[in-house]
Amino acid sequence: TAPCAGMFGPAPRRATRQVRIGKVRVGGDAPVVVQSMTNTDTADVASTTKQVAELWRAGSELVRVTVNTPEAAAAVPRIVEKLAMMGVEVPIIGDFHYNGHQLLANEPACAEALAKYRINPGNVGFGKKRDTQFAQLVEFAIRHGKPVRIGANWGSLDQALAAKLMDENHALAVPLDAAEVLREALIRSALDSAARAVEIGLPADRIILSAKVSGVQELVAVYREMSRRSDFALHLGLTEAGIGSKGIVASSAALGVLLQEGIGDTIRISLTPEPGQSRTTEVIVAQELLQTMGLRAFTPMVTACPGCGRTTSSFFQELAKTVQEHVRAKMPEWKVTHPGAENLTLAVMGCVVNGPGESRHANIGISLPGTGEAPSAPVFVDGEKTVTLRGEHIAREFVALIDGYVER
Ligand code: SF4
Repeated sequence: TAPCAGMFGPAPRRATRQVRIGKVRVGGDAPVVVQSMTNTDTADVASTTKQVAELWRAGSELVRVTVNTPEAAAAVPRIVEKLAMMGVEVPIIGDFHYNGHQLLANEPACAEALAKYRINPGNVGFGKKRDTQFAQLVEFAIRHGKPVRIGANWGSLDQALAAKLMDENHALAVPLDAAEVLREALIRSALDSAARAVEIGLPADRIILSAKVSGVQELVAVYREMSRRSDFALHLGLTEAGIGSKGIVASSAALGVLLQEGIGDTIRISLTPEPGQSRTTEVIVAQELLQTMGLRAFTPMVTACPGCGRTTSSFFQELAKTVQEHVRAKMPEWKVTHPGAENLTLAVMGCVVNGPGESRHANIGISLPGTGEAPSAPVFVDGEKTVTLRGEHIAREFVALIDGYVER
């Protein structure tokens, strides 16, 4: 869906150069792209292929893998080939630190199979080696026709640049706060490296920038400044966001502010999965963030009340969960057979207080019986009460009504 215009919607997207990563477009007029990263050992072809496929099925439009050893580099072309055989069409991005120049030199098939290289300017080497190794990485991108992400990170800040800026700051009559100097070092690390890549010969429309930190306010300040000072496409992400709800809230707060200001062309929600939690959670959170902000639509939105003392049983929560899981599971099929289904709104409400009203606002909604109400559940379709469900099979019948609505 198009972003809303006017004072109550997100600001128009900042104009950035569009970058092609395989068949996926990032920046310019392209929608904000969802990406994720595997946590398997890339040298383990079977596990990595499986996880990439899971992330792609969940909706990840780009997937990054660690390329840290000769074994991992050798595995990349095999992973890409297996994915193609499975019909998984997702560009694979190689994440390089320290030895990327050697791995790409020794494994040309890896350099060719990857759709993009991620280069961390703080981790490519030191002194003259840094410049040489950075240039080598960029030259591989030029030779193989690949885009790169120049991704600076607070945890691996270019120390030489930080020390230089600190020295310059001390020489000022009124020195800046140390935190401001370090923020500038992070931004400059990304911007100067991008300028150097262009100087070496990489076209500017093959560069994406990021500068990740782990603090919400700091991230907002860094990206506002990067956006003001360049027109490179920007990858947003709060690094080391944390585990479970903390990571989700912190990432959503930071990215929500930036997206509202029109900043950001691709996002990753970097979650530490809770034990037993699927890696795909980060993809779902990224999609939900974009959809709840009205920037994109991926799957029908389910409105559900929180429940309270008026709800008679856990059936209401179970139905909300069933409906959410059902539409999410059906969406890959509906995307092909019924495009537009992702724009539907559904409501599952716990009682008569807000149930009929909220259900009328949805394309299809149900108001379950609360304490003291008749054991019946009216269903509303496009604002009109159409049928009342009763008995043990309410969940099954309501899901069938949703499917029927999509079919029509
Ligand atoms: Fe409680 Fe009813 Fe409101 Fe749901 S709609 S929160 S059950 S009062």
